[in-house]
Amino acid sequence: MAHDMIAPDALALIGNTPLVRLKGPSEATGCEILAKCEFMNPGGSVKDRAALAIITDAEERGLIAPGGIIVEGTAGNTGIGLALVGNARGYRTIIVMTDTQSQEKQDTLRALGAELVLVPPTAYSNPAHYVHTSRRIAEETPGALWANQFDNTANRLAHIRTTAPEIWAQTGGRIDGFTCAVGTGGTLAGVGLGLKAFSEDVVIGLTDPYGAALFNYFAHGELKAEGSSVAEGIGQSRITANLDGAPVDTQFRVSDEEGLEQVIALLGSEGLCVGLSSGINVAGAIALAKELGPGKTIVTILCDSGMRYLSSLFNPAWLEAKGLPVPALLRR
Ligand code: PMP
Repeated sequence: MAHDMIAPDALALIGNTPLVRLKGPSEATGCEILAKCEFMNPGGSVKDRAALAIITDAEERGLIAPGGIIVEGTAGNTGIGLALVGNARGYRTIIVMTDTQSQEKQDTLRALGAELVLVPPTAYSNPAHYVHTSRRIAEETPGALWANQFDNTANRLAHIRTTAPEIWAQTGGRIDGFTCAVGTGGTLAGVGLGLKAFSEDVVIGLTDPYGAALFNYFAHGELKAEGSSVAEGIGQSRITANLDGAPVDTQFRVSDEEGLEQVIALLGSEGLCVGLSSGINVAGAIALAKELGPGKTIVTILCDSGMRYLSSLFNPAWLEAKGLPVPALLRR
């Protein structure tokens, strides 16, 4: 193997993910619908990019010293990324998340050596919310850094500097639209700002799950949530620092049922096993394709692997308990 084909270390494996054409959605819309395979990052999600950027930024600012501790509140994937980067760079991790997140994410975090603090889900205004709990733990722990992925813009900078240029290069600049859902907003705002820097003509679409307030914010200027969603990692009800100034041109709202339909179609027809936020993103990409018309190229994100949700999304009993339809693929 040529020397330049060897990654210098494991962290160099983060990013430079492949872009895959989605056959079914492309044929259904007459557009090219392409998806960035973020589940192929070493930690299995798009959040590896933010984790690496946040820790590198903190090191450069002298906010964390060797032997230090990284504390974060997360839906799980950022925690997994931080634990991996922390292990590689010599930091311990304390991860706070709600006990409603998938068992697989909890088990993965423990296996990676993170100290896991599970809390019940609450409103963001409640001081016991997992984000506030993580901030408090960081304040009370000597040598600790609060990663603060929601309002630390090193998160979106990772996407401005890596994801957007990768998409531009991989499409040869032939891209008409980009859309994805929002957790912190790092991906949507970062890729949006990054692509707009290449061309103002790229249409940036927000894809919002129910239970989040951003669809109404971008459509009507009002932060108002309606309904609910079981999707993990997405669903935001405030304008985080990462989301502030996101160049959103259009917006869509996607139900869990529509997202699940795409998850199953990707699995059954394309051989791609992804989580619900990815299915919601693909439904959003189809909506954007319909808005822009045939012949366009639309890019979205496959955020993490479905194998992170075997006990939930791919478990008929769990789907039934959540009132979601059980796809025929899972019954055979
Ligand atoms: N999907 C999943 C599964 C996630 O974990 C996250 C991150 N919370 C997102 C989507 C959203 O990414 P971002 O934080 O960049 O908005």
